Amino acid sequence: MRDKIVAGNWKMNCNREEALSLVTEISGMLQDEKNNSATVILAPPFVHIGAISHFVNGSPVKVAAQNCASEASGAYTGEVSAAMIKSVGADFVIIGHSERRNYFLESNATLAKKTELALMAHLKPIFCVGELLPEREAAMHEVTVKKQLEESLFHLSDEKFSEIIIAYEPVWAIGTGKTATPAQAQEMHLFIRNLIASKYGNAIADATSILYGGSCNELNAQELFALPDVDGGLIGGASLKSRSFVNIIKSF
Ligand code: PEP
Repeated sequence: MRDKIVAGNWKMNCNREEALSLVTEISGMLQDEKNNSATVILAPPFVHIGAISHFVNGSPVKVAAQNCASEASGAYTGEVSAAMIKSVGADFVIIGHSERRNYFLESNATLAKKTELALMAHLKPIFCVGELLPEREAAMHEVTVKKQLEESLFHLSDEKFSEIIIAYEPVWAIGTGKTATPAQAQEMHLFIRNLIASKYGNAIADATSILYGGSCNELNAQELFALPDVDGGLIGGASLKSRSFVNIIKSF
């Protein structure tokens, strides 16, 4: 049975006070309402990871970074290494989010380096893949996603790949309100699982959590999470509203 996961990507939102209010509200609701079976991960901006990790310490809520450096340490002004992230209490890191790929031009090769460093630091990568709108319109979505997986992850050993969580995020659905249809999501999740099976075998493919991301909200989460190959969600906008995020967590 693979893990069900709901991860909230706060992106570049929340000052310290807002971040602490949000985690306080989410944790309070989860504690009071209890009926959730998912692993909950919060991905605040780097500067809040220490405080949020301290707040959730000892609770089931886990913390992720939104990115990490592609080098281990040294003269890389402004960068934050995987080992530093681990040292302030996070257990996960989002790698290859489309905003990193598209605005910061992170290549599949760079993302492979980030993934290796994250694994060395004992952070579990939430590795994002997904096609742009023109790629979907040209029926190239499978080709794009296959290339992203092959060039960034498929060199990993079985043991290391088993630490990876995949997030399928069609870029045209992120922050646009245009969610993938259940049929589109299931088709791509199954495609990804089959690729993993052909590289790593059925046992590893069956155990890999594949999250859906892209305008997932409290109204559509239940239908998406019920799909056989959708194991949860990576949530952007709706993760900034405690009630909406907790309703999504309770959608399994
Ligand atoms: C995301 O940024 O990973 C995301 C899925 O955003 P949104 O939920 O806002 O579409």
